[in-house]
Amino acid sequence: MTSCCSRPAAASTDPTHDPAADTRLPVAIIGAGPIGLAAAAQLLARGIEPLVLEAGAEVGQAVRAWRHVRMFSPWAFNTDAAARALLTAEGWAEPDPEAYPTGGELVDRYLAPLAATGALRDRIRTGVRVVGVARRDFGRLHNGEGRDAVPFVLHVETCCGMEAIEARAVIDCSGTWNAPNSAGSHGMPALGEARHADRIAYGIPDVLGADRASHAGRTTLVVGAGHSAMNAVLDLVELAKTAPGTRILWAFRRPLGAVNFGGGARDGLSQRGELGARAQALVESGAVTALAPFLIDRIAEADGALSVSGRQEGRARTVQADRMVVATGFRPDLSFLREIRLGLHPAVEATPAVAPLIDPNLHSCGTVRPHGEAELRHPEAGFYIAGMKSYGRAPTFLLATGHEQVRSIAAYLAGDVAAARRVELVLPETGVCSTERSAATAGCCGPAAATTLAEPVAAGACCGPAAAPAPKAGGCCG
Ligand SMILES: Cc1cc2nc3c(=O)[nH]c(=O)nc-3n(C[C@H](O)[C@H](O)[C@H](O)COP(=O)(O)OP(=O)(O)OC[C@H]3O[C@@H](n4cnc5c(N)ncnc54)[C@H](O)[C@@H]3O)c2cc1C
Repeated sequence: MTSCCSRPAAASTDPTHDPAADTRLPVAIIGAGPIGLAAAAQLLARGIEPLVLEAGAEVGQAVRAWRHVRMFSPWAFNTDAAARALLTAEGWAEPDPEAYPTGGELVDRYLAPLAATGALRDRIRTGVRVVGVARRDFGRLHNGEGRDAVPFVLHVETCCGMEAIEARAVIDCSGTWNAPNSAGSHGMPALGEARHADRIAYGIPDVLGADRASHAGRTTLVVGAGHSAMNAVLDLVELAKTAPGTRILWAFRRPLGAVNFGGGARDGLSQRGELGARAQALVESGAVTALAPFLIDRIAEADGALSVSGRQEGRARTVQADRMVVATGFRPDLSFLREIRLGLHPAVEATPAVAPLIDPNLHSCGTVRPHGEAELRHPEAGFYIAGMKSYGRAPTFLLATGHEQVRSIAAYLAGDVAAARRVELVLPETGVCSTERSAATAGCCGPAAATTLAEPVAAGACCGPAAAPAPKAGGCCG
C-alpha cells in the first residue's frame, strides 16, 4: 500500500499520452471499502489495472468507524470471490462462513489482509481524497467528437497538495458513511441541529465502549427506524442494565403500526431478523419510550439539556434529552461528480434502472434482485457508482450485492458482455415485503434465480431484474 504522495507505477499522470493507449491507463476506484477492494480484485482477475484512491489513512475507513457493531450477515455473504482468490494464494485462513463478524473483524480478518496482498498493495493509495472527476478537456456541458473515448481526470487532494490522475474508467465506491441524513423532518437539518452537533452522534456510537460516558445515566433520544437505530437502541438498553438513570427515547417518523421491524424469523439472514424482533419487543414492553410519529423541527438548549421540538399527531411536542443519536440513513455525496453526466432517479438518487428495485416508497423488501453493469450505467460512458453509494438514499444495501455489481462491471470493461449480464448471485430473503405501499405481489422480493440480465422485465416489477437503460434518442427532435 502506498500512502499520500508516493505514486504507484500503475498511475499515469502524463497528459500528453497517446489516446490509443488509453486501455493501458488504470481504472480508478474511489474508496478502499469492501466494494472498492473487491472491484480492484475483480479487475485484476480480468487483467485490468486498478488504482484505488482512499481518503482515509487506512483501508476500510468507514467500516472502522462502526467496528464495534456485529454484522447481521455471516462471513459467507461478506467476502468477494476474486478477493478470496488473492487471499487464499497467500495462505489466508478463511473465517468460519457461518460466523457473524463485527465491523472490526471484517477489517482485521479480511479488508486489511486483502489490501496487503502482493497483488493489491501497490495499487492502493491511502490519504488521497478525490475532489473532482471529469472527462479530460470536457466539462459536463460540452459535447465533442470522441468525448466518450478520452480518459477521465481525477483531481485528488493529498498531504503534498493537489494532483491530477488519469484513468480509462472510474468506479466510484466511496460509500455514504460521510454523508449521514439529519434529524430534521424535512430532509434538511432541523433548526439548531448544526449548532448542537457536539451532543449529537450520527450512525451507531459505541455506547458500551468508547462513548459510554456520554450516555451512561443520561437520557438519549434515538431518531430513525432502520437497522442502525435498532442497534443503537439495543446497545443503550444494555448500557441501562449497568448504568442506572439511563433513559432511552426512540423517535420514528411513522406511527408505530407502520414501522417495519423486519421479517423476524422469516428473514433469510437470521441475525437481521432477530435484530428487528428484539427492537420491536423493547418498544412493546415499554423498555424504551417510543415517540411515533414524531416530526422534528428544532433543536435548542434548555436547562443544560437538548430541547427537541416538533409535531406529534399534528400537535406541538417538545422532549428533553442529554444526547441524540441520529440514525436516519445516509445520502450520496455527489459534490465531486459535478462534471460527470449522471443519470439519477429524482427521489432515490440511484440510477433509474436500480431505483425501482430499492425505492422504499414502492416496497419495503430488503431483498433486491441482483443487478450489474447495465443497470448501473450512467450517461457518462465508463463511469459507474457501485457499492453502498449506488443505492443513493435507499437503505438495505448488502455487501453481496456490491460484489455482484463490481464483478459485472469488471467483466464489461474487459469486453465480456455475456459475463457482465449473467447474474451469479442468489440473495437471502428478508422475509418481509410490504404490499401496503405498492402493487407488488407477495412474491416480488423473493431471491432471484441465476439468470441473465439480457431480457429486461416490464417496468414497475419491483424486484425483478431491471431493464437496461433505454437507448439514447437519435437527435434533437427524436
Ligand atoms: C453499521 C452498519 C452495519 C452494516 N452491516 C452490514 C451487514 O451485516 N451485512 C451487509 O451486507 N452490509 C452491511 N452494511 C451495509 C454495507 O455493506 C456497508 O456499509 C459497507 O461498508 C459498504 O461498503 P462500500 O465499500 O460500498 O462503502 P464504505 O465501506 O463506506 O467505503 C467507502 C470508502 O470510500 C472512502 N471515501 C469516501 N469518500 C472518498 C473520496 N472522496 N475520495 C477517496 N475515498 C473516499 C471512505 O473513506 C471509505 O473507506 C452495514 C452498514 C453499516 C453502516
